[in-house]
Amino acid sequence: MATSGGGNYRNGTHKSSMKVDRSPSLSSNPKSSVKSKSLPSSGPRRNSTGSLASGAAKDNAGVPGRVRVAVRLRPRNAEELVEDADFADCVELQPELKRLKLRKNNWDSDTYEFDEVLTEFASQKRVYEVVAKPVVESVLDGYNGTIMAYGQTGTGKTYTLGRLGEEDTAARGIMVRAMEDILADVSLETDSVSVSYLQLYMETIQDLLDPANDNIPIVEDPKTGDVSVPGATLVEIRDQHSFVELLRLGEAHRFAANTKLNTESSRSHAILMVHVKRSVKAKDSAFSSENGNSPHMKTLKPSLVRKGKLVVVDLAGSERIDKSGSEGHTLEEAKSINLSLSALGKCINALAENSAHVPVRDSKLTRLLKDSFGGTARTSLVITIGPSPRHRGETASTIMFGQRAMKVENMLKLKEEFDYKSLARRLDIQLDKLIAEHERQQKAFEDEIERINVEAQNRIFEFESNHADALEKERLKYQKDYMDSIKKLEEQLVKSQQKNGSEKVPVGLREDGSALTSNTESSKVSAAEEVAELKKLLQKENLLRKTAEEEVNNLKSQIAQWKRSEASGNSEILKLRKMLEDEASQKEKLEGEIAILQSQLLQLSFDADETTRRLDRGGSGKVPSGLDSLISQVKHHQQDSGNGEKASIAKLFEQVGLQKILSLLEAEDADVRIHAVKVVANLAAEEMNQEKIVEAGGLTSLLMLLRNSEDETIHRVAAGAIANLAMNETNQELIMSQGGIGLLSMTAANAEDPQTLRMVAGAIANLCGNDKLQMKLRSEGGIKALLGMVRCRHADVLAQVARGIANFAKCESRAATQGTKTGRSLLIEDGALPWIVQNANNEASPIRRHIELALCHLAQHEANAKDMISGGALWELVRISRDCAREDIRTLSHRTLTSSPTFQAEMRRLRIGH
Ligand code: ADP
Ligand code: MG
Repeated sequence: MATSGGGNYRNGTHKSSMKVDRSPSLSSNPKSSVKSKSLPSSGPRRNSTGSLASGAAKDNAGVPGRVRVAVRLRPRNAEELVEDADFADCVELQPELKRLKLRKNNWDSDTYEFDEVLTEFASQKRVYEVVAKPVVESVLDGYNGTIMAYGQTGTGKTYTLGRLGEEDTAARGIMVRAMEDILADVSLETDSVSVSYLQLYMETIQDLLDPANDNIPIVEDPKTGDVSVPGATLVEIRDQHSFVELLRLGEAHRFAANTKLNTESSRSHAILMVHVKRSVKAKDSAFSSENGNSPHMKTLKPSLVRKGKLVVVDLAGSERIDKSGSEGHTLEEAKSINLSLSALGKCINALAENSAHVPVRDSKLTRLLKDSFGGTARTSLVITIGPSPRHRGETASTIMFGQRAMKVENMLKLKEEFDYKSLARRLDIQLDKLIAEHERQQKAFEDEIERINVEAQNRIFEFESNHADALEKERLKYQKDYMDSIKKLEEQLVKSQQKNGSEKVPVGLREDGSALTSNTESSKVSAAEEVAELKKLLQKENLLRKTAEEEVNNLKSQIAQWKRSEASGNSEILKLRKMLEDEASQKEKLEGEIAILQSQLLQLSFDADETTRRLDRGGSGKVPSGLDSLISQVKHHQQDSGNGEKASIAKLFEQVGLQKILSLLEAEDADVRIHAVKVVANLAAEEMNQEKIVEAGGLTSLLMLLRNSEDETIHRVAAGAIANLAMNETNQELIMSQGGIGLLSMTAANAEDPQTLRMVAGAIANLCGNDKLQMKLRSEGGIKALLGMVRCRHADVLAQVARGIANFAKCESRAATQGTKTGRSLLIEDGALPWIVQNANNEASPIRRHIELALCHLAQHEANAKDMISGGALWELVRISRDCAREDIRTLSHRTLTSSPTFQAEMRRLRIGH
């Protein structure tokens, strides 16, 4: 995993730009929309789980607020001006953006936001107005207020809080100015102002106004939970002069006490308490929001008293005290010295995380601050830092303390801006549109069904009634015909009977046989006629029946037809229903996507928190590595605290997984792709994730993005991620074997944006540091690509190019020493020398330093000497050996010059003394 040797100028991440990219929604952040330039006052906090908040908050209806945090940078002091002359400050402030960049190395920094960023030029007046004035104003309104300074010894806590400014009024610190404002606002007839001044050292409270009083107890009101130090001297203040005298007295006593105890004042906390008691006119208070619900309000007579307490705390130096107990302390003493400060850190952590238990009782400091810190108080914290890169670690931990403190109370935090939020929002809108459209379609579909149904019913009804009418008509007609026929038959029967009755002579008794015969003949004829007629009737009847049957069949077939059309109506219903189901499943899919995105969001914020927590642990080396342990750590945490939210984050983290994130690199939506690549880049910035990313094919995907994407942002972010992955030797080989150098060269040739070029150059520079890849890198155009990027004159890009050249030259010189490389340098072959010589004395120190090293490495190989002489590099080497500010480089170039016969000869020829 090691990079190739100490000579590889380790590259960092470009997290800084990521963080900034990530928060385009800054303006929508409530934090940045705060009123005016000053820290807005943070109103009394609703008493949440076990916070430092007093249970007896008198104003529960107050505005929820949070601890406001300003960072102040001390200017370089005389020592730093000399010692750090060659180095940049470890921080860069962007006061207008309220941002602070903490440099990690040459080209990489982390960005943090604060409520206020105060540069080294900030005046004491401005610092007071921004940090303290809102708190003082609320104290005058009857709230408790706290102003604290936190930071390493020597960074300006006392300067900020305690300067008396007698020699220079402009230098007055917060304590003095606060009292001026208080005295200007109160009326000495009706109000009172009194102060105590205490020191807390090794869990003992000493009275700075009365040194004999050196072990003052903290008293807690069992009912209200309010804390006080009734044993402390309380001095009534009536004018500014006596207050300044009191402060001076306190300082003197503090100095004496510390001398006696053989300690430094930097190890103790100084606490100034100002009690302001004011009588308020009933009229005023009736309008005020507090106590406003008292029914007696209107009847109260003028003297209502408001008590505000201002606590100003000049904390002990935040630097870690030597555990071995230097300064003549035993280990126990060392622990005790730090106890209050570390307890404060723990409480702030617990409050920031909304933890159920806040260990307020662990120290005197946290008990003292119980009712003024985070509770009913408005609290401002100023964290002080110095510029020196030598104290980067302490500065970083101070910054992290400030960042956590900002979360205390209402936690207005930056991760949500991750742009995923707006994406999720957009998808939400889309989803809503689909839902609305779906609802409209469903309604239309239901209406259509209803219409078809009604129509079918009507037709069926109509036909049924027609049919019934027709049947009835037929029936009546047949009945009538039948009756008619019967009637006719009866008539005929009657007729024939009459006929037979008048000739009632038996046939056989007749004498006249012929007559008999003719009678028989005529009856025979009429019977035959009758039969014929009956037959005709029958036929007619049959015919009618047939038509009726046909009619019935006809109607039946029509009914069948209607049934069919109803069935087809049904199939249409089915079709619409199917469409409905499709719609629903599409909706479900979108919701799933949103869930994934949200989980990624959660994961990111979780990552950010985790990083914060780790940094917070101060790089103690106890940081578990690997994604799995990260998850298990979270799980473990869950078991400990039963914290459901953590558990769900861990679950989501597992569910989403790297694979899913990587697959989003190929998403259709360009936004999703950009976000995904940012996530991957952020993950790649952590060494512990790199192997997993590569294993999961992330490196290949990133290279694909360079090949296939047109988007500059994607190029920049992907190149940054590749640069990070390229810090590791195995990955360097993988990048090369996948044609990475070609892709990086292509990206370099097409990019305009200096940040993209910086990332690409950084990646190539890392590859340049690998001994095994020298030949391939060169033959695939790596050096040419690097040199091509100097067209962009941005110092960051040039620094990376220089770093790459230095890395390459170092590997070459190593190879030459081992005898594996002969002939002149590939850098010289590829025409790098003119640029190297031109920039050997570049005014930007990162560029200059790398080039100086590159020249020394090149000069170590005799085969390069001739070219270097003709290219003017000898002059530069001579200059370096004389003037370079860094002794090691000076010595190296001197040694190189003296050991090369060619250089020696040339120097003799030119009579350069050496
Ligand atoms: P701390 O109380 O944090 O140990 P000090 O307030 O004693 O630090 O400051 C250390 C030194 O730096 C002092 O000499 C102080 O005058 C100087 N100093 C601190 N802050 C500033 C500033 N903003 N401007 C000029 N000098 C400063
Ligand atoms: Mg101090």
